[in-house]
Amino acid sequence: MPQSEGNASMEPLGKEPRGILVKLARHYGYCMGVELAIKKALETAAQTGRVWTDGPIIHNNEVVEKLRGHGIEKLRSDADLRPGDTVLIRAHGVPRRRLLQLEEKGVRIVDATCPHVKRAQEIISRYTGEGYKGLVIGDPEHAEIKGILGHAHGECIVVRDIEDVGKVDGDEAPFVVICQTTFSIFEIDRIFAALPLDPERDRIVKTVCRATQDRQEAARELAAQVDAVLVVGGFHSANTNRLAGICREINPRTYHIETADDITPEMLRDVDSVGITAGASTPDWIICRVVSRLKEV
Ligand code: SF4
Repeated sequence: MPQSEGNASMEPLGKEPRGILVKLARHYGYCMGVELAIKKALETAAQTGRVWTDGPIIHNNEVVEKLRGHGIEKLRSDADLRPGDTVLIRAHGVPRRRLLQLEEKGVRIVDATCPHVKRAQEIISRYTGEGYKGLVIGDPEHAEIKGILGHAHGECIVVRDIEDVGKVDGDEAPFVVICQTTFSIFEIDRIFAALPLDPERDRIVKTVCRATQDRQEAARELAAQVDAVLVVGGFHSANTNRLAGICREINPRTYHIETADDITPEMLRDVDSVGITAGASTPDWIICRVVSRLKEV
């Protein structure tokens, strides 16, 4: 059965009835930050009866539904807040002004910002406060990046991809450079190489987290060893989409699925081996169901 946080085996799970060999990536699924946020939410809900989360606590509809049963629910509007309510800040973190808004509402704040994201927020806050120009590599539409930008002093430059490098003006140096914690480690090296950076002058911190690095490296390795890859995770999950992109570069027969129900006969046509990896917000039980479904083929 799949294990969480890096305990997975690369060993084949065995020949299944139809003869498909199933392999798990060396690292996949839930990361420390997501586990911590869910644990905090459950502990708090057990005390208070209800916890609002400021945005979906996890990009996984099935998990969100299960948590709702424990009184943990996404906040739809601040108008729903009452003084004394509890609001959990999810692993992505929030801008500083959002914390102030919530404080003004008189709610209790439980901060479940992942420690890796918090570190990126602190770095950008400190160095932009000292006069460095903030340079953030990541998706400007992603909640984590919006949160990080909300801790900067002054405006930052956001570089989403290699095409964006041209908008960085070396005259604005010195820079403090950080990255989205779930950014592609392969893409980030290309971007760093193209940026007008000077390690002596600039503060450069690769804030891609260990869990992301492990999952991306393992996914790439796996994709080269199997006929097809199933990447399991929410369709809105940035880190799952990145895993799928990395696998697809190596293996065109890569399929992003949310649950076992998304597996189609076409995905397994003429396939002798299937690799499975999963995003940081995919629990083991969803991965187990995918493995079980493959056994039924
Ligand atoms: S992917 Fe990394 S940064 Fe994001 S929550 Fe998980 S451990 Fe934290």
